[in-house]
Amino acid sequence: MARKLNLILLGAPGAGKGTQAELISERYSIPAISTGQIIRDEIASGSALGETVKSYTSKGELVPDSVVIDIIKARLAKDDCANGFILDGFPRTVPQAAALDEMGVEITDVISIEVADEDIMTRMGGRRYCKKCGATYHVKYKPSAAGDKCQNCGEELSIRPDDDPEVVKSRLVVYHEQTEPLKDFYEKKGLLKIVIGQEKLEDTTALTAAALEG
Ligand code: AMP
Repeated sequence: MARKLNLILLGAPGAGKGTQAELISERYSIPAISTGQIIRDEIASGSALGETVKSYTSKGELVPDSVVIDIIKARLAKDDCANGFILDGFPRTVPQAAALDEMGVEITDVISIEVADEDIMTRMGGRRYCKKCGATYHVKYKPSAAGDKCQNCGEELSIRPDDDPEVVKSRLVVYHEQTEPLKDFYEKKGLLKIVIGQEKLEDTTALTAAALEG
């Protein structure tokens, strides 16, 4: 039987964390948990929480630690996390990582997918997503089989408001200032593995699989 995987995926926005999370999720039959997706669902639902967090995400800022920590606590308590999970986009600050430790969550692997800022800016221009089912695509690197519609559910594909180039620039600054220090945090625990993001999706997938198996 494959070993238990409690995996954190680190990396700048647009580095390919979400795509790798989906692939690993299928391979290991464990849930991929994206705090960004949970937050987008909250915003779409029009809830009070959604209204509060929208002001941060629309500017490319991080949602306050206390809010995302509560979200992740509730999500990790669900039964489907018992045999492992993948965290895509959490933790994003040192206090969030410390909160995982305080919750007694044992992390087995941390993979940082590294892509240069200039390449991120180019890639983000082609990102598309499905508002209805959350599937993600890229016009060049991961096109939908249904063209400008979602290949899963047929919904017209959208561009995320926070993929606007000016917002992406802010998100990269936030990433370098607040999230990148986590590499050191997990390096010190002996958990960090680096994957250099490749132009071709399947090449990044192969390197990620090797990092997990090696
Ligand atoms: P993502 O889809 O992971 O790029 O997340 C989209 C947006 O949701 C981010 O730009 C943040 O505003 C917010 N967000 C997602 N995860 C976190 C987190 N762990 N901490 C703070 N904000 C987050």
